[in-house]
Amino acid sequence: MTISTRQTSMRTHMCGEIGTSDIGQTVTVCGWVAKRREHGDKLAFVDLRDYSGIVQCVIDNAVDVRSEYVVKITGVVRPRPEGTVNVNLSTGEVEIGECLVEVLRSAEPPPFPVDARADDVDENVRLQYRYIDIRRERMQKNLRTRAKVNSAVRTAMESQGFVEVETPMLVPSTPEGAREFLVPSRKEPGSFYALPQSPQLFKQLLMVAGIDRYYQIARCLRDEDLRADRQYEFMQLDAEMSFVNQDDVLAAISAAVIAAAESVTGVKPDPIQQITWREAMERFGVDKPDLRFGMELTELTAIFSSTEFKAFAGAESIKGIRVEGKAEEFGRNKLDALTDRAKKMGAKGLVWLKVTTDGTLESPVVKFLSANEQSQLISTLQAQAGDLLLIVADKWSMTCEVLGTLRNELGRPPVHQGPYRYVWVTEFPLFVGVDKETGQPKPGHHPFCQPHPDDLDKFSSDPMSVRSLAYDLVLNGWELGSGSIRIHEPEMQRRVFTALGISEDEANRKFGFFLKPFTYGAPPHGGFAFGLDRLVAILAGEENIREVIAFPKTQSGQDPMTNAPTRAENKQLDELGIRVLPPKV
Ligand code: ASP
Repeated sequence: MTISTRQTSMRTHMCGEIGTSDIGQTVTVCGWVAKRREHGDKLAFVDLRDYSGIVQCVIDNAVDVRSEYVVKITGVVRPRPEGTVNVNLSTGEVEIGECLVEVLRSAEPPPFPVDARADDVDENVRLQYRYIDIRRERMQKNLRTRAKVNSAVRTAMESQGFVEVETPMLVPSTPEGAREFLVPSRKEPGSFYALPQSPQLFKQLLMVAGIDRYYQIARCLRDEDLRADRQYEFMQLDAEMSFVNQDDVLAAISAAVIAAAESVTGVKPDPIQQITWREAMERFGVDKPDLRFGMELTELTAIFSSTEFKAFAGAESIKGIRVEGKAEEFGRNKLDALTDRAKKMGAKGLVWLKVTTDGTLESPVVKFLSANEQSQLISTLQAQAGDLLLIVADKWSMTCEVLGTLRNELGRPPVHQGPYRYVWVTEFPLFVGVDKETGQPKPGHHPFCQPHPDDLDKFSSDPMSVRSLAYDLVLNGWELGSGSIRIHEPEMQRRVFTALGISEDEANRKFGFFLKPFTYGAPPHGGFAFGLDRLVAILAGEENIREVIAFPKTQSGQDPMTNAPTRAENKQLDELGIRVLPPKV
């Protein structure tokens, strides 16, 4: 027997779908009482709600139904009396009359009205009563948007020959950079599993195993401080492919992202453009550029090659941004605040200049700049009267960081505001920064990324300039995900481990289970993973991924509904061989 998507043995229609074509029909609807209004002595109006919407039912006012009661109503669909049509409601032209009401379940008054705006209710209260919060139209829509995205992603991956394989949740510790959640072993007290930061190692082993194209909508867990775009547990589309180069991976993942976006917005995004990491840093100052607005960073170093201005003389890099038409808006206090912001990030300072109506520059530092420098500055930045110019002279990375941050802070629209601008950022550095404890370089992504073939000779001479075949996908300034072509030759893996200061012994101890299989015939392979929560949030028009997750944790990592995390019983701890020390004072 096939069952209808909507009709059940208890109902014939969904509330939100009743319309003029049903007039005269007897229908049965089930749902929650959204509102009750008395209508004269004998009758009451009840707005009945299910996920599809609301329908007005006219009932005998002696029937005891109140807000959020669960009821079943059978009645006849009829046009609303003239003058009472509600154009804001999909069912606003009709109502259900001659109603027979069956109360399926009474309800306590809800802690907040289900039609309240999210902003009007404390988020902790929303999360404590999440099952009521999800009754709200917006949450219903968001969770359904999420399901659409999952489904479109699955279809896109499967139509490209990817096979869904599930990987374990109890895994050994893996080196992906984030802090891990540990799970104590009862059988081996003192030993721990880790919860997977991602299925990284397993998906690569699936390539050794000949699966060829793997995907999974995978739960990943990272014990990192939470914020608007981060939760302890989050979902990724995780994928890996054999016998591919970078373009193959980008094409496969682009297809899934484009299908997901189209399933929600109805509009197929343009092919996703690519820029290199270097270009992203040069133009936008950050590795997750928001391409929806201009205000790009402009290179100014050459203009000041023989400057007398001390703050600029000899600087490794001088860059500027033009904040269009904002000169007047930025008085002394605001300018001081910008300068403080730049200093907090580690810059030596921030130079600001305003372009006056006659096209000259106004700033406490103008007197130190030659006429030629001033005119070149104006022409290079294409500055117009009324613009505010911000300049940083420092190390290259510092000029990028400061101006990239200020550009975002001064110009960035809310993340979901269109147009959607996807971009692949490629050629990330293989190493970033130096580990404070060991003094060794740290992996830019994880230690299994293939170095760029053109940079192999720089490995020992200039490791920090070695590029990798690692790439990120960015949407409106949010990093959706990362991936890379992997190392599949033990010799190359050894070189990278050596550069990272990981000895052969340590490598074997930590990742032996992963490295050994590579000696049994590993195909060239590469992959990617992107965060579904982030993609869904942007497509659903939400600033915070908690709005698209059914049961998220609060910013402090708690679940006000279940009270997790809770204290374990002593008996459980004894079995695990764990002793909890009193908190440090
Ligand atoms: N495992 C990586 C991550 O979660 C993605 C990848 O390299 O495929 O960021």
